Amino acid sequence: MQVDFLIVGQGLAGSLLAKELLRRGRTVHIVDDGWKSAASQVAAGLMTPLTGRRFTLTKDYPELYAAAKRRLTVLGVFRLTEVYRMFVDEEQRARGLKRTECTSCRPFITRLTARRGEVDGDLNDEFGGALMEGAWVDLPRMLTDIRQELQAAACLTEAAFDPADAVVDAEGVTWRQVHAGAIIYCDGYKSALRGPFKYLPWQPAKGEAVTLRASVADKPFILNREGWALPLGQGVWRTGTNWQWDQLNETPTEPQKDKLVRRFQSYFGQEVQVDVTAHVAGVRPCTADNHPFMGTHPRQGRTHLFNGLGPRGTVWAPLMADEMAAYLCEGTALRKECNLARFPAA
Ligand SMILES: Cc1cc2nc3c(=O)[nH]c(=O)nc-3n(C[C@H](O)[C@H](O)[C@H](O)COP(=O)(O)OP(=O)(O)OC[C@H]3O[C@@H](n4cnc5c(N)ncnc54)[C@H](O)[C@@H]3O)c2cc1C
Repeated sequence: MQVDFLIVGQGLAGSLLAKELLRRGRTVHIVDDGWKSAASQVAAGLMTPLTGRRFTLTKDYPELYAAAKRRLTVLGVFRLTEVYRMFVDEEQRARGLKRTECTSCRPFITRLTARRGEVDGDLNDEFGGALMEGAWVDLPRMLTDIRQELQAAACLTEAAFDPADAVVDAEGVTWRQVHAGAIIYCDGYKSALRGPFKYLPWQPAKGEAVTLRASVADKPFILNREGWALPLGQGVWRTGTNWQWDQLNETPTEPQKDKLVRRFQSYFGQEVQVDVTAHVAGVRPCTADNHPFMGTHPRQGRTHLFNGLGPRGTVWAPLMADEMAAYLCEGTALRKECNLARFPAA
């Protein structure tokens, strides 16, 4: 089988890049191991404009968000939902007030509250909070839809790919029966562990999330305070997460589950009973400078990478997939801050 591109991995990165290449009339074949290590399966897919203790607007957020909203709406998986960020103290509230004066932040802040219970009597938000325009992406649905499309077109092989099995030469890339013009690694944090792009400064980080049923009324917004809780309706919530830089695996742990449950309960002013129905873990493909890794291997012209989407893949991926496809198909330059050439080869 002859194709233009062999893509390794059908997570968020591989899926959206495949769609962009197909849109440009290119042919692709994807090899994926059945989402065995997909961060995209574990992620809540949240888009939150202002984040962190300092409550700051993520760099380039307005541009990335606008593109993501457009693209993911077309795919039918964009869910516009407000986020209620509950402040932890007076200092954070003062920051929130200041952000309403900033022209790029202001469009995302819909309301600032000052006192407990102003937005919802159930909440334990003694320092008030900020309601923001946010969203979540139905990632499982998007990945399933795209997988079915690829399978129907016989463009997907379910297998564990080993870089040593691919022959890359001046003619192209051969892996099993697939002959491709080039190979693109979209295999998430696995690229940090082996393969041609291991030399890059990765900082993969494990995170866990639980799904639970709670004895509290559903809310019309995502709750956010040192973590998040996404209401899925009928008393079901998804809540997470944590950061761990060692023991990079997909094994959920009991201590983390307890922490996530306690944090969820702390969002409410009354006692909340919970029943955990699912508990998952995944590894984010984070990078040392918080920007994606995109581009071509310094010594192998037919070997490319589209990866390093970090903790905010849903915001980054749609626009970057478009820019990566334009780079591969039309030779358009990549953004300097995302081009992997910013790091010297090992
Ligand atoms: C707990 C948690 C919560 C998160 N929450 C959010 C959030 O709310 N919002 C947000 O924007 N982002 C969130 N993220 C980050 C987000 O998940 C990532 O940015 C994004 O999913 C990365 O997508 P990817 O396609 O690069 O990697 P992955 O999703 O890891 O996809 C890689 C794919 O390649 C496959 N693969 C790997 N190795 C091989 C191999 N050898 N052979 C074949 N296939 C292989 C994997 O199985 C997988 O299908 C979260 C991550 C975690 C872990």
